[in-house]
Amino acid sequence: MEHKGLTIHWLGHASFMLEYQEKIIYIDPYQIGRTRPDADYILITHDHYDHLSVEDIDNVRTSETIIIAPEVCRPKLQDIPSQLKTFAIGAEKELPDFTLTLVPAYNTNKKFHPKESGWVGFVLQFGDVTLYHAGDTDVIDEMKSINADIALLPVSGTYVMTPKEAAEAAKTVKAKIAIPMHYGTIVGDISHAEEFKKLLGKNAVILEKE
Ligand code: ZN
Ligand code: ZN
Repeated sequence: MEHKGLTIHWLGHASFMLEYQEKIIYIDPYQIGRTRPDADYILITHDHYDHLSVEDIDNVRTSETIIIAPEVCRPKLQDIPSQLKTFAIGAEKELPDFTLTLVPAYNTNKKFHPKESGWVGFVLQFGDVTLYHAGDTDVIDEMKSINADIALLPVSGTYVMTPKEAAEAAKTVKAKIAIPMHYGTIVGDISHAEEFKKLLGKNAVILEKE
C-alpha cells in the first residue's frame, strides 16, 4: 500500500520492505526469498531467529547498507561491524533519509520477551508520516507516547499480542492505518488478522503477502 509517498510491502511474518524517495528499507527480513531489491537500510528489532536472519540480511545487503539494531543484537551481527549502528532506546536519530527512534518492546503477561532484554520496536518519521513497527510486544505503557499514522502490530497471540490486545495497541498509538503482522508463518493465521480488522473497522488494513 502507499501513503503520502511511503510504500509498504508486507513480506510475511514481521518482515516489511518500505520504499521512500527511492530508498529501500527492510524491517526484520525473514524468509523473504532471493529476488528482492538491494537494501539501503535494514532494521532489526531483536535477535530471535524469525526477526534476525543473517541469511536474509546477506541476501539484500550491499557494502553500502546501513544496518540498525539494538546493542544486544551485536554478537549475531559481528561479521558486519562496519555496517552496524546500534542506538539506545528512546533517542531520536536523524538518518540521511528519515528519523528513527528505538522504542521498547516486551511482554507483560508472558515470559518470551522480558523487558530487561533491551529489544525494540521502531518509530520512523518520513516527512510528515510516522510509521511504528511494534516488534514482538504486548500492550505497554510506552505506547501512550507514540502517535503513529501507520502502525504495524503483531496479532498472533502466544508470543505477542492477541488480536484484541493489538486493537487496543492501535488505539493507544492513535493509528490512522493499523496493519496486522506476525501471523501466517510459525504462529497465527489469517483469522487473527481478520479478528483484528473486525475490532478496528476501516482503520485496519490487511496487506497481501508479497
Ligand atoms: Zn521474538
Ligand atoms: Zn516473533
